[in-house]
Amino acid sequence: QQASLARDSHLPAVTLDGVKMRLMANIELVEEVVSVRDNAAKGVGLFRTEFLYIDLKRFPSEEELFEKYKEVVELLTPKPVTFRTLDINGDKVLPYMKGVEEENPALGLRAVRFCLKRPEIFITQIKAILRAAAFGNTRLLIPMISCVDEIIKVKEIIGKAVEELKKEQKVFNQDIPLGIMIEIPSAVIIAEDLAEHVDFFSIGTNDLIQYSMAIDRRNRQVAHLYHTMNPALIRMVKMVVDAANKKNIEITMCGEMAGDPLNLPILMGLGLRELSMNSMSIPLINQMVRRLNAVDTRAFVEKVIKMGKASDIEAFVKETYGNIL
Ligand code: PEP
Ligand code: MG
Repeated sequence: QQASLARDSHLPAVTLDGVKMRLMANIELVEEVVSVRDNAAKGVGLFRTEFLYIDLKRFPSEEELFEKYKEVVELLTPKPVTFRTLDINGDKVLPYMKGVEEENPALGLRAVRFCLKRPEIFITQIKAILRAAAFGNTRLLIPMISCVDEIIKVKEIIGKAVEELKKEQKVFNQDIPLGIMIEIPSAVIIAEDLAEHVDFFSIGTNDLIQYSMAIDRRNRQVAHLYHTMNPALIRMVKMVVDAANKKNIEITMCGEMAGDPLNLPILMGLGLRELSMNSMSIPLINQMVRRLNAVDTRAFVEKVIKMGKASDIEAFVKETYGNIL
């Protein structure tokens, strides 16, 4: 069964009624490109770039980052590679960055907040990404955006990076899609305003669950509350998809929720057409796509959206789709 799954994962991810899904991979290391290809991902929807920083004993140089990024882009071209800028602190700490202990790291100087406080580190990474972008298909993704001001500041930094690259006469491509992670509840609420400033959204359910339900994603004591079928989460996903569609920007999901076949009818019903996940999950999701009718998931989700309990939603999913899982 495993073998046929792997073989069939190269079949197009198209529903019975002809709706195409784009299944992308989440990666952390250059070496994972092999698994992206083996599992027939349509590209990288989330490159968690912090791991290249964690491995070193200091901040990497622009040249070091560029070489690695270029390698990934060249290996996968023409498939897109989505570079998410540095998302450190929170749950991922750089061993060489002592002296910034925080009482609540998840609510602290994490991700884009850190990058905007240390623009020299941010610019270095953005320059490396824009240079790699000259060698294939890339996208730029900013984590932990919570308000419009942050994205405006990010764009100023990108502008500075472009100026520097021009001055240095380096080969680069600034014409790449700019997106933000939607993983903080405030970003869900102002999604339409944020959409004015970016080309795409990527929903990060891992943090969206943590921040909206006040559940530390690493705390086992409250893990029983961490549920992707929580109606609050499902309704938030709907808000974000609707905002993106209304504002005519691309929408994708790269949180773990996207890699569980049980969630697929809900995500498709809400209108998502691109999902990014651990590449090992792709064959199973692909198979599930091929067994679904997109039009039915629409009607199904209309009922789900009115349900008030995660356990009821889960039972309803299993009752409706258990036979094709
Ligand atoms: C998320 O928060 O859902 C996400 C994809 O990013 P990370 O797990 O790296 O925080
Ligand atoms: Mg996150």
